[in-house]
Amino acid sequence: MVHGGAWAIPDDLVEAHLIGVRNAVDAGWRILESGCSSLDAVEAAVVVMENDEAFDAGRGSFLNREGKVQLDALIMDGATLRAGGVGCVEHIANPIRAARKVLSESPHVYFVAEGAERFAKEHGIPLCKNEDLIIPREVERLRAYQDLATSEGQEPFAPEISHDTVGGVALDRSGNIAAATSTGGTLNKAPGRLGDSSLIGCGCYADNESAAVSLTGWGEPIMKLVLAKWSADRVASGNLPQWAAAEAMNYLRDRVSGHGGIIVLDSQGRFGLAHNTPRMAWALRTTGQLDSGISRT
Ligand code: ASP
Repeated sequence: MVHGGAWAIPDDLVEAHLIGVRNAVDAGWRILESGCSSLDAVEAAVVVMENDEAFDAGRGSFLNREGKVQLDALIMDGATLRAGGVGCVEHIANPIRAARKVLSESPHVYFVAEGAERFAKEHGIPLCKNEDLIIPREVERLRAYQDLATSEGQEPFAPEISHDTVGGVALDRSGNIAAATSTGGTLNKAPGRLGDSSLIGCGCYADNESAAVSLTGWGEPIMKLVLAKWSADRVASGNLPQWAAAEAMNYLRDRVSGHGGIIVLDSQGRFGLAHNTPRMAWALRTTGQLDSGISRT
């Protein structure tokens, strides 16, 4: 199951989002069919969306205040609780691949900035120029946003801003679940700002004994609630993933006036999806079901 952001996705962007999430779920499914792990599947699905400029991940991400792309990603294995994260990387087109290397080839869990890039390079991940990750649409978007902020004397209200972070959760034949989330963060963010997406338990979490979870949305409120882990804990205490997903969105709104979207999957294959934004892009595939959509609140 994958998501490609939760916000007021405009009608003219719906098709691009649907194509993107369908391609991603197909890629993940092929990996599962070939007998590989849920970890491989979520990595492959997220790579597809990082490579798709429709989303705020990889090339085509939002720009920070200084006009640079700065990316964050996390991947987590529900069987072992091994996790790998990278934050504030500026020269990696597929940060989820770097995160996977951290998970599988480092005793550490999280690398940031230059150290993350050095680690990635040493482990065979090619580095690119930051300009290679920037597209004209985003240069224009940042300019328009900064002009508006200057003319209004304040930052535009966050819920009006898009949240196109991508993520996936998967269950494999061995009964193991995994989760991955990748993002360019929020538009006009301060350099060095990290959101929820790549922080363990905030925008991403996986434990076979509870659930695999990936979120998108306004990162600061989400991380204050450690919302991915909060949701997984609700599943561990006997609730259905759909209930946990819906409750997480209620909690986010009621406790910290936050907004976003969430997908949740447990190791029995029960899943849930919820958002408190106008729309959310998602796709899901099981042995008996292939579905995708832009759900509305
Ligand atoms: N959650 C991301 C962040 O705050 C943004 C998003 O989901 O669009 O970095």
